[in-house]
Amino acid sequence: MSTRIGVAGLEVDTRHFIGGERSTSGTSTFEVTSPIDESALGAIAAGDERDVDQAVRAARAAFPRWADLGPEGRGKILERFAQAILDHKEALSAVETADNGSLLIANLKRIVDRAAHNIAFFARFARELRHEPIRGHEVDNHVRHEPAGVAGLITPWNAPLMLSTWKLGPALAAGNTVVLKPPEWAPLSCSLLAEIAAGAGVPPGVLNVVQGSGVEAGQALIDHPGVDRLSFTGSIATGCTVAAAAAAHVTPVSLELGGKSPFIVFGDADLDAAAATVAAQFNNAGQVCLAGTRILVDATVEADFRAKVLAAAQPYVVGDPRQRGVRVGPLIHRRQLERVAGFVERARAAGATPLLGGAAHPLGGLYYQPTILSGVAQDAEIVQNEVFGPVLTWQSFGSEAEAIALANGTAYGLAAIVYTRDAERAGRVAGRLVAGTVWVNCFFVRDLEAPFGGARKSGVGREGGIHSFDFFCDVKNVAVRRGSFDRAAENG
Ligand code: NDP
Repeated sequence: MSTRIGVAGLEVDTRHFIGGERSTSGTSTFEVTSPIDESALGAIAAGDERDVDQAVRAARAAFPRWADLGPEGRGKILERFAQAILDHKEALSAVETADNGSLLIANLKRIVDRAAHNIAFFARFARELRHEPIRGHEVDNHVRHEPAGVAGLITPWNAPLMLSTWKLGPALAAGNTVVLKPPEWAPLSCSLLAEIAAGAGVPPGVLNVVQGSGVEAGQALIDHPGVDRLSFTGSIATGCTVAAAAAAHVTPVSLELGGKSPFIVFGDADLDAAAATVAAQFNNAGQVCLAGTRILVDATVEADFRAKVLAAAQPYVVGDPRQRGVRVGPLIHRRQLERVAGFVERARAAGATPLLGGAAHPLGGLYYQPTILSGVAQDAEIVQNEVFGPVLTWQSFGSEAEAIALANGTAYGLAAIVYTRDAERAGRVAGRLVAGTVWVNCFFVRDLEAPFGGARKSGVGREGGIHSFDFFCDVKNVAVRRGSFDRAAENG
């Protein structure tokens, strides 16, 4: 196996990153292909139980010193790490685009900045975290967030850099060491990230990366008894497997799972703004867990709104994600293309009508047309299941109550989007929607201090600010009898 492959004019190491060094225990590899043209990028090391065990041991060995550095000591290093991410913006962007097909311009303008912010924000949060003592009847309760130990982090392919740093930030800032298992279809930016962290002074063993398949490397990580926290982002099916494995060791687990979020447009809404936001659901070729994929529009404005949406979708040009002007890149993999195409074909066979798209893009390869399907029943497969591609459904409603019933009528509960000019209605509807996040007259705004997570099958637990620290720490209460120190001093 070659230890380096050329990607977008850069060299990326193909081995795991364990204990501050490149390593691999076996000879097994897997092929990484670029969704842009399905070309082979090269073979990289496929981790197994031995690699995972080595990584968990390295993380365990590094834990006491990292924890002892405290928020100040760790914060300085993590701020350097965040800056180093920015310093490597071009490399990270190019590799992410080649590896998962996301738009190069989006990576350059937003995603890498956000990845750095994910680290810097939690470094600052840890430094500023203070607890006022809780005054009880006889005691003062001093709450402490103690680092839990070794955190196992597992992320999906749709946004590897973003989602990995989202977990790394709080896990590391809270004082844990980590083993990260990146996605098999897009592992390369995480490989770079490990080296960037080491170059910025993150000590050996604090951030370990083991590549490989979910069923082998991922399973070994979730089964490992030396892991103190499991943080997973991915599908519901795998989430169930992770939860079951975590249960075996009573390991706290955080699950960020799929979504089928409703996008409700009331008759009084700013229809132009709402239409622009509907079109934005095609970003990242619709491979976004939070996407508002079910358009629910007030029947009284439906025709007007449809015209505005179709106009707003016009600039969503499909093509090579490295080219300027392109707004929708390829799907990640041929299996994903087949999955998306299968959903649309079955929906059309059941009577759905495309308002937009409805098939693979004439460009071929892994490109799929932005698609909106109307004539869908609430219990249709396409309404009830996450497609994870550029496919939206279109339904209308006659009353607020009907809008809420349709919105809540799936097994998911990740997010919801509401467009209305009526503040009272916004509050009332937001209260009734089953969702971890409700965006009113906006979309995709995620402040890191705010809670984030899914209701129902969209997840377990919340990330963000103190919620992340509650998860990645053992929250300890030290109850001190008031006046006892003084008395002890007197007695002594
Ligand atoms: P998967 O659940 O298939 O995979 C997610 C990760 O889990 C991958 O790294 C995968 O490895 C790994 N994995 C697979 N099997 C196991 C196992 N047995 N044990 C441990 N790890 C395993 O999801 P996808 O990669 O297909 O990602 C898409 C899904 O992620 C969608 O449902 C989407 O909604 C969801 N998602 C949720 C988000 C949220 O914040 N709620 C954000 C982004 C995506 P491998 O890559 O090798 O299969």
